Amino acid sequence: MKSTNPLFTGMPTTIFEVMSRLAEEHKAINLGQGFPDVDGPEDVRRVAADALMNASNQYPSMMGIPELRQAVAAANQRFYGLDIDWKTEVMVTSGATEAIADCITGLIEPGDEIVLIEPLYDCYLPVVKQAGGVAKLVRVTPPDWRLDAQALAAAFTPKTKAILINNPMNPAGRVFDEDDLKLIAELTVAHDAFAICDEVYEHILFDGRKHIPLMTMPGMRDRTLRIGSAGKTFSLTGWKVGYVTAAAKLLEPVAKAHQFATFTTPPNLQRAVAYGLAKEDSYYAGLASEQARKRDRLSAGLERLGFKVAPSAGTYFITADFTPLGLKGGDFEICKRMTIEAGVAAVPVSAFYGSDAPDHFLRFCFCKRDEVLDEALNRLEKWLSAKQPNQS
Ligand code: PMP
Ligand code: GLN
Repeated sequence: MKSTNPLFTGMPTTIFEVMSRLAEEHKAINLGQGFPDVDGPEDVRRVAADALMNASNQYPSMMGIPELRQAVAAANQRFYGLDIDWKTEVMVTSGATEAIADCITGLIEPGDEIVLIEPLYDCYLPVVKQAGGVAKLVRVTPPDWRLDAQALAAAFTPKTKAILINNPMNPAGRVFDEDDLKLIAELTVAHDAFAICDEVYEHILFDGRKHIPLMTMPGMRDRTLRIGSAGKTFSLTGWKVGYVTAAAKLLEPVAKAHQFATFTTPPNLQRAVAYGLAKEDSYYAGLASEQARKRDRLSAGLERLGFKVAPSAGTYFITADFTPLGLKGGDFEICKRMTIEAGVAAVPVSAFYGSDAPDHFLRFCFCKRDEVLDEALNRLEKWLSAKQPNQS
């Protein structure tokens, strides 16, 4: 038989699937894959349920239903003052994952360089490689996950077609500040490049921070593709409804990639997301404050057990250095053992790197009920106290 595509043949399964299945198998508390354990707003789900029964269930426009495209444009205006033409500048996708793939496929030609910031979300590198792009990797470094301005500048070359950023950043919990965004914008403009912005956690920022889309920085309006996800904004991760906002000229090739990837997205989920995006300010404030409270609960507990927890300014995640615990082994091994022996699953942070990853950090997802977080901490405490320091 002929060989199958070597890029995908033998590739490891995504770490989120691996850890979730391992957690299931061992009845572990799953603080690995990022999903809330309580579904999002009942009124949003009710709109979807009613629409399933009363509205059309046939193919909507490949660009998305007008109500949702209008709602995405309105949300851009309401939250960021961006003036967006819903007819030509918004496209609905089946999750942010599809949007990311469409943007890369639509923009990147073989040999183009694309700047990426590690640790990075796990689908970025494979999709870049599939498009024939050349990844130029820059790092933010723990414990504060700061961006090295010089390294970033050095990653841009005349061959740079685009930069792909994730803000707020999974798994680091880093939120790029105005200085970071200014620098990214300046470099992108100076190299006449595009910016793909994965902003799925745009409404999950903590401690009074406000999300700043790179698209609002000088010179960026018409060279940025901004990606959002209803999964994150409404705690409905299984819905897989995403959206891209970009100048018509940029959205055009991305829509062509989309038309042959999924073509469209379930219409009645779109109807409910359109309703949800118009929800009152208190909904959005509550989403962020509730997650901040959970971050604090899990961080304090892990610190008490001896982990060194890095700050998290947004997302569903904290990262924790397990070196002080004296456990032997790298992050993959510790995650596996923690799941099987302690009954608590996390995700190894090295899964978010291309190569030469630090391997002593775990990512914990905190968007779980308080009693679940507390039980996870109890299990970890028992597991750790049963071990002698430096015991395998
Ligand atoms: N980007 C990041 C940074 C994520 O954490 C996730 C995980 N949900 C996604 C994209 C994918 O979002 P969706 O489920 O809407 O495809
Ligand atoms: N974004 C989720 C995470 O980081 C996972 C989504 C997925 O499994 N594809 O955990």
